[in-house]
Formats: sequence, structure tokens, C-alpha cells
Amino acid sequence: MSNTRTEIAELGEFGLIEHLTKNFEIQNVSTILGVGDDAAVIDHFGKQTVVTTDLLLEGIHFDLMYTPLKHLGYKSVVVNLSDIYAMNATPTQITVSIGLSNKVSLEALNEFYEGIFSACTKYGVDLVGGDTSSSQKGFIISITAIGEVAPDKFVKRSTAQVGDLICVSGDVGGAFLGLTIMEREKKIFLENPKIQPDLEGEDYIIGRLLKPEARKDIIEFFANNDITPSSMMDVSDGISSEVLHLCKQSNLGCVIYEDKLPINEATKKAAFKFGLDATVCALNGGEDYELIFTLKQADYDKITLNEEIAVIGYMQDIEKGCKINTKGGNTFNITAQGWNAFQQ
Ligand code: ADP
Ligand code: MG
Repeated sequence: MSNTRTEIAELGEFGLIEHLTKNFEIQNVSTILGVGDDAAVIDHFGKQTVVTTDLLLEGIHFDLMYTPLKHLGYKSVVVNLSDIYAMNATPTQITVSIGLSNKVSLEALNEFYEGIFSACTKYGVDLVGGDTSSSQKGFIISITAIGEVAPDKFVKRSTAQVGDLICVSGDVGGAFLGLTIMEREKKIFLENPKIQPDLEGEDYIIGRLLKPEARKDIIEFFANNDITPSSMMDVSDGISSEVLHLCKQSNLGCVIYEDKLPINEATKKAAFKFGLDATVCALNGGEDYELIFTLKQADYDKITLNEEIAVIGYMQDIEKGCKINTKGGNTFNITAQGWNAFQQ
């Protein structure tokens, strides 16, 4: 960050909005009218529209002590896009609303919008509006993402069937360990500001926390291989909690296998270092932004060659419950101890 500090008030509201949004170029034909009028105009030309929104509060959802603003901007967009992909849809537009305390300088806000810009460019979405206000305490971010999907091709949580395979993209548990290390270093720093953070060799898990990606590639893979998952959602609260959502909403039970959970080597190493069980981190951690979905067994052949997809179990009758089979050969009920912003 540069040393100059410009107060937001110097620009005035319109100057600020113009300054923040001037570099964003329209990338989608569906964006008929973007920033600058009373409302944006979007036309999905016969496709269905998918909408999702998220509220992010300083001190609840992010900590500016260890979250660079550029990363925060990027992640704020990505977590919303992840929800659009989780519907088997393609994100096309976002709106960004911010509440700014007087702690936030123009330079800081520039960095935040650089992150937003970078996510918009990478995922091909247009920034088409937002709102700007002052906040008495803390930085407030609310992002809405809009997407499109071919008529009735969206995928819900409630439509899994008995015998369907439960699949997860990428790997899980990493972001939770990234958070664990950042919280530990923060505590050490607050106790003794002279101690430099020791983050050597932890790039992978810190990247999982600070710069997650949404699984655009998986949705494209489905489209290219004629796959429609029978149910789907994104993994923001840990596998346990998400699998229980799919089961509850589909009125089913499930079996998952501990040894099938996709956990990166770096995540396992970090778990060991902290005296944590990597499986517990994968099941109960959060913020991985992977996709969890179910597939008809007949589609199994279509995914075997995709190394980014792991089959972790299957759906069963509700009477048989929601179970996990451990490496040691035991069976336990799955309980939801997912990430919960109210329990922090
Ligand atoms: P209104 O008074 O109708 O709320 P604003 O003056 O807040 O309008 O906004 C003017 C334009 O700038 C609108 O297109 C709005 O969507 C957009 N806008 C406002 N704040 C932001 C922001 N933080 N990021 C992106 N666009 C914004
Ligand atoms: Mg406004």
C-alpha cells in the first residue's frame, strides 16, 4: 500500500462511484445497461435468471488485520459466483454495495476494487451497479450476483435420488487450516508486535483462505460432457453440513467414506502441525468454495477421467441415516458442526 492517504470525502459520492467503476468494461451481451442510471438493465434472451446475494461484515466474516483488501475484493465476488455455479448456471453480472467507515481511505478502496476488477475479468462478469454509504463502525460489503441458465437446467439441492453418487470437486479443509494459522499468527502479533509472522511453507492453505476460486471449470465440464448433476450446492460450511443439507432437502440418507475425502497434502501436513485431524477439518471446516453434487450411477464413466472430481459416497434411504465410514472400519452418524458465523 502506498503511504498517501486520501479521504473518501474529498471525492464526493458521485466522484467516488465514477472513480471506482470507470475501468470496468461490459463483457456480456446480456448487460443492456450498466452503472450510471437508476437501475441496470439485463436481458438473458430466453434463458432463466439466477440471483444470489451475500453480506460480509468486518469482524464477523473477515479480519482486515490479515486480509489484504485486494484479496477481500476478489473473494467477496468469488463467494457469490460460487453460489451461481452451484445452481449449474453461469454468472453474468454483479452489483457491489459498500458501507465505509472513516478508517477506509481512497487508496484502500482502490485496492478493494482492484480485486473486484480482477475477479470480474477472470470470470467474465459485469459490474452493473451498487450502492455506497458511510458506516459508523467497520467495513460492510454486500454483493449480488446474477447469472443465466438454459430453461429448467438449474440444479437444486432437493432432487438427489437413492443410489446417486456423492461427488466433491477439488479438495477440502485447506481454508480452515489457513484461517487457523492466520488466527494463530494474529494472536502472537497482538501479544508481541515485534515477532514477524511465520507463514513459511503455508502458501497453499493461506491461498485457500485468502484467494479462493469458484468452480467455473466444473460447470463447463458438465456442459461439455452432457452431465446434469441430480442435486448440487457449494461447500462453504464444510462437507458434513453440506451433505446433511443435500440429504435433508432430498429427504434421503447417505454414506460417505473417510478415505475418499479429497484432502491436499499441504492441508494434511498443516493439520498434523497444529495437532488437528485433517478429516475433521475437511468435514467441519469452511470456506473451501468447492462444489458438492450427486450424480446418477449411469454417469459415473463420464467423470472418472476428471481428476478434479472425487466420489466420496452415495445417497441411501432416509431410514438408514447419514453415516460416515472411517478408515478404521467404524461407522458414525454425520453431525453438522459446520462453520457458523454466529458461533465465532
Ligand atoms: P441512487 O441514488 O439511485 O441509489 P447512486 O447515486 O447510489 O444512485 O448510484 C449511481 C449509479 O452508480 C448506479 O448505477 C449505482 O448502481 C452505481 N453505484 C453506486 N455505488 C456503487 C458501487 N459501490 N459500486 C458500483 N456501482 C455503484
Ligand atoms: Mg445509492
